[in-house]
Amino acid sequence: MNLEQLKDTPHRRYNPLTQEWVIVSPHRTQRPWQGKVEKAPLEDAPHFDPDCYLCPGNARAGGARNPKYSSTFAFDNDYAALLPDPQEVGIDHDNLLIAGTERGICRVGCFSPRHDLTIPRMSVRELRPVVDLWIDQFNDLGSRAWVKHVQIFENRGAMMGASNPHPHCQIWATAHLPNQTIREQASLAAYSSKHQSCMLCDYLRLESDLRQRVICENDSFAVLVPFWAVWPFETLLISKRHTESIADLDNHERDQLGEVLQQITIRYDNLFEVSFPYSMGFHQRPTDGERHPEWHLHAHFYPPLLRSATIQKFMVGFEMLGGPQRDITPEAAADRLQNVSKIHFRDRA
Ligand SMILES: [Zn+2]
Ligand SMILES: [Zn+2]
Ligand SMILES: [Zn+2]
Repeated sequence: MNLEQLKDTPHRRYNPLTQEWVIVSPHRTQRPWQGKVEKAPLEDAPHFDPDCYLCPGNARAGGARNPKYSSTFAFDNDYAALLPDPQEVGIDHDNLLIAGTERGICRVGCFSPRHDLTIPRMSVRELRPVVDLWIDQFNDLGSRAWVKHVQIFENRGAMMGASNPHPHCQIWATAHLPNQTIREQASLAAYSSKHQSCMLCDYLRLESDLRQRVICENDSFAVLVPFWAVWPFETLLISKRHTESIADLDNHERDQLGEVLQQITIRYDNLFEVSFPYSMGFHQRPTDGERHPEWHLHAHFYPPLLRSATIQKFMVGFEMLGGPQRDITPEAAADRLQNVSKIHFRDRA
């Protein structure tokens, strides 16, 4: 195995989780860049915004009023994409026009009463209630007989379409498994029956030996740029212990999850000295009542930024019609993330 040969020649890489290929074109990073590289202005959000529908005590669009919460706070989304008791539908015209009922509960979870406090700016102590909120929601929603899957995710930044800057996540519980979960579950199950071991346990061991793409870690978690990353600074957070869900984490691991999230998001913010936009979310076992030893708790970070705070990657052209492609190698991206400061740039002044 010679990883050196991947450094400056176009090639493709395999993603064993999705069973898809990504094209890597490292020779193109030599290409001259005509655009401007700008720093985004530092946004100074207030601690409290009287017009924010997530701040404590404020009225929401649906007419409800938030309590004067002092830690985390979750509620059913006033504009939920899914409803728990929708009208039953069922269509199958000639195997081509197919539709069916989808039940769901969509919640919003505020990380803190503070309007301006993002994960990288929170202390490990302040992050623990956020982890506990995710676990409570997973247990609460997942325990309902019809809920087969709970997706916890955060869309951060206007670039990701986040409609409100108040740090928050969304939790969507559904009666069916989403596409990505079905795909990864099939890959994980196939790997474990073929190799009698867990794909992500094996992968983490390999990356820990190679030490090329690991960005940060603690006793319980590691964050790395996966070999098959599509987004320029995509990362994968993996639990060191084989565990199927966030609810299985012990007390120490719950603290450590907050700590490792702080580590990676500080590095992200420091990369372009901006509040770094991303979509992140956890992948874990479905809540369908089956046993799922094939699942290994992990989270994906998909940030859109490419070479500065204002230049983003677009999935267009070949990527829309064929498959994903990237220029900067995952190893070069890992190198950038490894070499930024561990101290948030706003704390350095
Ligand atoms: Zn707010
Ligand atoms: Zn595992
Ligand atoms: Zn996944």
